[in-house]
Amino acid sequence: MNAYLIAGIVLILFLLILLFLLKKRFISSGRGNHLEKAAKNGRATEKQDTLLRSYFRGLSYILSNETDRALVEFIKVAQMSSDTSEIYLALGQLFRNTGEVDRAIRIHRNLLLRSSLPDDITLQTMFEIGLDYKKAGLIERAGRTFEELHEKFPTYVDALQELGGIYEMCREWDKAIKIQKKLAELSDNSDSDNILAHLTTEMAKEAEQAGKTSKAMTLYRQAISINKNCMDAWLHLGDLQLKKGKEQEAVNSWTKAFEINPDLAKLVVGRFSQLSPEKGKKRKDDFFQSCLDTYADNIHFIFCYINFLLDVNRTDEAADWIKRVMFTNPDAAEIFPVVARLVKSTESCKQYQPFLQEFFTIYKPPLKPYQCRQCGYQLDEVVWKCPKCAHWDTIGPR
Ligand SMILES: [Zn+2]
Repeated sequence: MNAYLIAGIVLILFLLILLFLLKKRFISSGRGNHLEKAAKNGRATEKQDTLLRSYFRGLSYILSNETDRALVEFIKVAQMSSDTSEIYLALGQLFRNTGEVDRAIRIHRNLLLRSSLPDDITLQTMFEIGLDYKKAGLIERAGRTFEELHEKFPTYVDALQELGGIYEMCREWDKAIKIQKKLAELSDNSDSDNILAHLTTEMAKEAEQAGKTSKAMTLYRQAISINKNCMDAWLHLGDLQLKKGKEQEAVNSWTKAFEINPDLAKLVVGRFSQLSPEKGKKRKDDFFQSCLDTYADNIHFIFCYINFLLDVNRTDEAADWIKRVMFTNPDAAEIFPVVARLVKSTESCKQYQPFLQEFFTIYKPPLKPYQCRQCGYQLDEVVWKCPKCAHWDTIGPR
């Protein structure tokens, strides 16, 4: 179990108990005559002592990872007072986060059975149950819980966000889009249009796969009208244009995508292999020539260019560029494959020998080629939504 997690939960529980005890003391000191008050205070102190003992025992069990025993102690604490919903909620979270989802669900359900539970606690308990189901992999049940929660409390943003996430997981794009629109009305998220554009693009891809090309075309354009910088929409619009035989339009859309994020040049240039052999070569050459001035400092674009030069047997030019990037970006992930291609493409490597020797002296094998800007998560390929922190458009080459 994660040490920070334990520390966090312990702190929350501690504050809750402290708050609870202070409240009791405050209430008990405010009424009755002196004798009655003293007797009451005595009983209250005794009860508080028992509470504190159970509570600290519970804490020490958590710290020694004996969650069963911790639960027994915390249940004692909870039974000694009716005002302990928050403690139950924190306990449920504790069990969910340590993987004991069944327990978490039981605690939360028991809490819901209480009569006269305040609205805010009902809301949070239902939300926690939804998270429990999600953690247990019961996605449909989680979805139903968040839907129910949304019906009861339509402006509850956290539940809407979870519901949207579940629709995305289930690839129910139209529903995910509706939720995203509601979220945009309720909260101030500057990324809202971007998310909507991505969801619309996903819906378009699905329509395209189902053979509904004109619907797909409309949806790609719709995604671009929502956010003209949605790279994925431009890429797939280009693919569809190519499918319809409109090669130049496709190249224009892909170029647009490239200009949005030149770091992902590979996604664009990789598509050029689908162009027709006769006109394709010229179009590729035009693309690189038109971009070279502006993007010569972009290492990811330059690697694409080097690969293009090697494709068309302009080996010496490729070698010049490799030498250049070897000194500017010696630890770039793409450098080894292009050197390997260069070696393979020539009969004798004699002319490149000094620089190859130097290359292998400074070369360090890379880790994963892509990384999330937001959370640092590393991965092998580009995805539009980070699997770790769930931000959109944060994955780029390392
Ligand atoms: Zn991330």
